[in-house]
Amino acid sequence: MSEPFRRKLVAGNWKMNTTRASAVELARGIAQLVPAGRTDVDVLVCPPFPYLYAVASAIEGSAVQLGAQDVYYEPPGAFTGEVAVNMLTDVGCRFVIVGHSERRHILCETDSVLRRKVAAAIVGGLEVIFCVGEHLAEREANQTEKILDSQMAGGLTGLAEADLEHVTIAYEPVWAIGTGRTATAQQADDVHLYLRKWLADRYNPRRVQSTRILYGGSVNPKNALELLSEPNVDGALVGGASLKVETFQPIIEAAAVATQGGGTKA
Ligand code: PEP
Repeated sequence: MSEPFRRKLVAGNWKMNTTRASAVELARGIAQLVPAGRTDVDVLVCPPFPYLYAVASAIEGSAVQLGAQDVYYEPPGAFTGEVAVNMLTDVGCRFVIVGHSERRHILCETDSVLRRKVAAAIVGGLEVIFCVGEHLAEREANQTEKILDSQMAGGLTGLAEADLEHVTIAYEPVWAIGTGRTATAQQADDVHLYLRKWLADRYNPRRVQSTRILYGGSVNPKNALELLSEPNVDGALVGGASLKVETFQPIIEAAAVATQGGGTKA
């Protein structure tokens, strides 16, 4: 049986960084790297809410996609401070990140909140990047699989088979996010294989072969090619290194090389 083809996706999570001017400059720089018609890699940028519209204009005409870092699950109404799904699609978002560890652990988002966000985003036409990942103490106590089981069930229970195509998983070990400490390529691939099996136990395994599973956690120009060359690492969710064209570009190029089978495992 031939290997499934999953084009690598490189997603930049800008978190609570940039100004309007620097966001537009960064977006323009990335758009130049990924012109319309470039098909060897998918690239996504997720700026802060206030800059989405300006960034949408800056990447117009390129192949760079736009995503938000969060969304609320209710339709527009009296929810002070929140942002609805249709507002995101209205400004050109195709993706949304749900369940980032900073939202789980700093903003205290629960499984039931995340499940509703996943469902509402898909109904409203967004592609969801659903994040999961264990703390260091949990990994050291051999609890990684247990934590991932509970986070996957927490966010995805009730997801219809037909909606699976709108979900990308991002494995982001909390101990690797913004710490400079990266999972080894083997650790990442092992977990991604586990997550794919988790999905295959619940959905048509053939469909699950097309689900992308990204790795996130201190991905940088030095480690990107090795991580992205793993067969089950279908892209990267990048924080710090996505904030400069000079550091994001090599990650994009590493993903393009790995998509074409030219990675370190070729
Ligand atoms: C992230 O924010 O999802 C992330 C992985 O951050 P960093 O690349 O900075 O570790």
